[in-house]
Amino acid sequence: MMFSFDYQNIEIKGNFKLAEVCSLGVGNGALFFSEVDSAEKLITALNFAKERALRVFFLGEGSNVLFSDRFFPFFVIKNRIKGVSLNKEGFVEVFSGTSLSEFLNFLEDNELTGYEELSGIPGSVGGAVYGNAGAFGREINNFLSEVLSFTKDGLLKKRKRKDLKFSYRWSSFKENGEFIYKIIFKLNKGKKEEIKKKREEIIEYRKNRLPENPPIVKSAGSFFKNILLPDGKKLAVGAILEKLGAKEMSVGGAAVSKKHANFLINKGNAKAKDFMELARRLKRIVKEKEGFEIEEEVIVLDKFF
Ligand SMILES: Cc1cc2nc3c(=O)[nH]c(=O)nc-3n(C[C@H](O)[C@H](O)[C@H](O)COP(=O)(O)OP(=O)(O)OC[C@H]3O[C@@H](n4cnc5c(N)ncnc54)[C@H](O)[C@@H]3O)c2cc1C
Repeated sequence: MMFSFDYQNIEIKGNFKLAEVCSLGVGNGALFFSEVDSAEKLITALNFAKERALRVFFLGEGSNVLFSDRFFPFFVIKNRIKGVSLNKEGFVEVFSGTSLSEFLNFLEDNELTGYEELSGIPGSVGGAVYGNAGAFGREINNFLSEVLSFTKDGLLKKRKRKDLKFSYRWSSFKENGEFIYKIIFKLNKGKKEEIKKKREEIIEYRKNRLPENPPIVKSAGSFFKNILLPDGKKLAVGAILEKLGAKEMSVGGAAVSKKHANFLINKGNAKAKDFMELARRLKRIVKEKEGFEIEEEVIVLDKFF
């Protein structure tokens, strides 16, 4: 049973069902859960965690996570710190809980070009920076200038792009466990009509080739990372899986999408263990038939027990 209480003006929920806050729609209860919409509330939540020596997990829009069927012994802090503006020097300042689509709308309205390729990707800007989200050769770090983040002790840090170790689906936030708070970008001036047209083309392309965005289809995007070859080129895992007949595979309520073989979808009542078993089988056939080890792009949260 879920319960809730007040801690210094933030609401904390106990035994909160995580299936409700992720795009795959799976997940058991979290020890504690709270939503924060300001830096002050974030600090309060971090203090609550520190006083009780709780492990903390930061959540954006939940579009890239697979929670466990088991109880999650963490304090999950969901980020709702939002807002985007242009500063005097012409840099765009975005709070991390802003959705990527709101951010891209702002860029279009302000005739700033560079990120049209990211159109249609769900999730928050913070989540995108954490995993260096990308599409069509563009990555969120490309026009990023600086990131302000909070350590779990509530200390504010400011780092430049070059100090954040961005690479394919990687940033230093995957190592340091900090909360991404505000991101500063420098984009180029463009023409509104051209930006709009390119965004529409990308959305149309995605619509024809990928399953619809959640909540229409419950997925977490590409389940596996593409294969990085020694020459730096990438092999599309979706094409390999399709060739191996993966589109016919399912385990319990988890199935490979018929539209794109690197998307695993929840047909209705999937459990995390269904996804993990399906992923295990897919990894095995790719290894056996093609000789490649593939690894999850989705953040799998079943290993902390
Ligand atoms: C239909 C669909 C299509 C997709 N297409 C793409 C695509 O084309 N390219 C692509 O790269 N991804 C894609 N994704 C994956 C996903 O949308 C992105 O990874 C997105 O950037 C995740 O953002 P989020 O807010 O949902 O993160 P979440 O799922 O909430 O979190 C993901 C990780 O980021 C961490 N995190 C989130 N916010 C913060 C923060 N403020 N501070 C510190 N850590 C944080 C979390 O702890 C977690 O480990 C797709 C997903 C779906 C469902």
